[in-house]
Formats: sequence, structure tokens, C-alpha cells
Amino acid sequence: MNENLLKTLANENISSDSGDRIPQMVKDLLQKSDTIIDSHCHIFDKSCVPVPYLHLRLHMANKKRGFNAESFLSGFGSNMNIPGTDIEDFIEIFKMKNMRQVLKFLFQNYYNPQSTILTPLMMDLEAGWNSKPQKSVRRQISELKKLIDEFAILPFFAVDPRKKDIYDNFIYSFSKPNSFFGIKVYPALGYLPSDPVLMPLYEICESKKIPVTTHCGGDLVGATQPTAYSGFRVVDNNLEFYSGETTGKYAENASFYNNPQLWEPVLFKHPKLKLNLAHFAGTDEWNRFHKGDEPERINTIIRLMKNYENVYADFSFNIHKNNMANILSEKLEQDKLVRERVLWGTDFHVVLPASNLKRDIDRYEKKIWWNQISRINPERFLFS
Ligand SMILES: [Zn+2]
Repeated sequence: MNENLLKTLANENISSDSGDRIPQMVKDLLQKSDTIIDSHCHIFDKSCVPVPYLHLRLHMANKKRGFNAESFLSGFGSNMNIPGTDIEDFIEIFKMKNMRQVLKFLFQNYYNPQSTILTPLMMDLEAGWNSKPQKSVRRQISELKKLIDEFAILPFFAVDPRKKDIYDNFIYSFSKPNSFFGIKVYPALGYLPSDPVLMPLYEICESKKIPVTTHCGGDLVGATQPTAYSGFRVVDNNLEFYSGETTGKYAENASFYNNPQLWEPVLFKHPKLKLNLAHFAGTDEWNRFHKGDEPERINTIIRLMKNYENVYADFSFNIHKNNMANILSEKLEQDKLVRERVLWGTDFHVVLPASNLKRDIDRYEKKIWWNQISRINPERFLFS
């Protein structure tokens, strides 16, 4: 599908009123004052991602504790328990056959289904990791669409400009019945946010009020090889095309593509775009903020919030660190703008190997700004 056909089909099939895409179950929960919204979670099962991704998650969380992921990888059947974490649940999840089971497990163990709306973000590592998932993206989309009838969810479609079928799958995701609700961008996998293939999608998202969530935190997940990139930058109040290639190592690649500054040209072209810069630059930057530094990426995100009315940042994954709720408080209590733009998110289930999620959720629920970040802000981000 080319760009012209994409725009034609989007105009014919996607409503400009985001209210038309809200499923009935979500509408019902929005009537209740105690409903909260988790703006960042995942429910993919193991057939949606390459096995080394799961390996990475387990290893990353536990290398400091002497955990040996290699020996563990012999199977998901072994007993695994690391005190203070939900790693056993993570392993349990990756024995499950489909996303419905994962979602049921989430509601049974962590959230009340009578008062929680979730925005499950798809994960597509195929181009970045050069590895086909067992379950095709198309099948993942149709599986998620079916779940909309059964659970209060607003799924986000994962885009990657290197995928030939990106426009076809976008139209399929947002077609009725049971339309998807947002898109997920993951530049760390090896492309610029302003990649020319993505720009028409932002145009559609801006005009149809479709929210965009992008990874903008730690550099753990990246492209596994050097990557060629192309996109736009703002020069003298104009967009200028540029291209190049990364030659750096894995983490350097991820760090290069994760820079929130790379979103400036997208917002310059589409100033009303609803954008969530997920993880709000990550825990390293917030620890530096706590020590009195002026971390560059946090500052860039706040500058984008000031300049563009629909820029948000979720605090997902960061929540597993004990000190982060209080550090976030320092900022939220002094800065009204940021208080109105932070979104609650957990990063379930990828956070489980590092987190004790019930304890972590509890720490945030007690804060005076809880309702602001778990209800008021996400409602504006998603539905305005
Ligand atoms: Zn995530």
C-alpha cells in the first residue's frame, strides 16, 4: 500500500471523533469515579516476540543478583524465585498460549477489572532484531481485536517503518469493528521518529486524534546491528531531510535513537499530535535530577511539553525502583505543567522480573497526585 492509498483508506474508514473508537466496556468504566487508566502495559505472549527478548528481560533484571539467565533458559519449567520480585509470575506468563490468558492473569493478580482501563502496547521486534515471531503481526492484531469485547482495553498498534505491510496493518488495526486506539513507536530498534514512512501516519493520527506512545527511556532494548537512518530535522524554521548510519554498539545505537530531541521535527510538523514519551527519560536521569543536576533528556521532554499542548510522559517501568515515587513527587509538587502531563503506567509484564508490582502500585496510590496521573491526565491524553 502506498501513501496515497493509505490516506484515502484512512479518510474513508477512521472517524475523526476518537469517541467512536471507545469500546462499550471502556465507556462504562469511564462513568465511575474510581476507575483508573494504566497507559503503558503489555500482554503479548511468548509467540509474539523472539525468545532472546525474554532472556534479555530476565537477565537484565537480575544480573546484579547473580542470576544466570543461560542456565535458566533450558526451559520455563524450572522453579525460579528471586525474593522481592514477581519473576515467578513473569515465567508463569510465558507458559501461556495466548494474550487472553495473559490479560486474565493480569486482572486476577494485579488490577481490579471493575475499575481499570488498560492500553496494551504491541511489540514488534521483527525488523530490529531480524527475527520473525511465531505468531504473525496480523494474527496478533486480530487476537487483540477479539479481546476488546471481553475486557476494558484500548490496544496500541506497533509501527516500524521498515515493515513492508506497515500501512496495510495500520488500516486493518483501525478498521471497524473493534478498532485499535493508538500507535506505539519504538525508535530504539533502529529508526528515526521522523522516518519518512512514519510521517503520513502522524498526519492521520493528528487529524483523527489517535494517541501515539513512544519508548523514551532506558537503552536496554536496541537494534542488533548498525542501522541506516533517514528523517527530518528543523533548520531555520523549516524541515530538512537528512540521512546517515549508526556504527556504534548496541547500547550506543539505542541511546542515539532514544533521544527525545528527535521528536522535535515530528511535533514541528504536527503540533497537535498526542504524544506520550514513555518512561520520561528513565531512572538514571531521575536520580541525577534528585542529586540537583539538570538532566538533558528530562529537560528536553519538559521543553516539548511547554511548546506542544499534547505532549505527555508516562512513568512506567521506573516504578520498580524504591526511591522513584518520592523523586517524582519532588517534581510534581513544584511544577504544575509536569503534574498535568505525567501518565500512570506499569510496563506490566516486562517489569515483573525487576518489580514487586503490588507493592510498587501501592506506593503511587497513596500519593496526593494519584488521581491526577492515573485518571485526569490519561483521560485527556486518550480521549480529548
Ligand atoms: Zn513497555
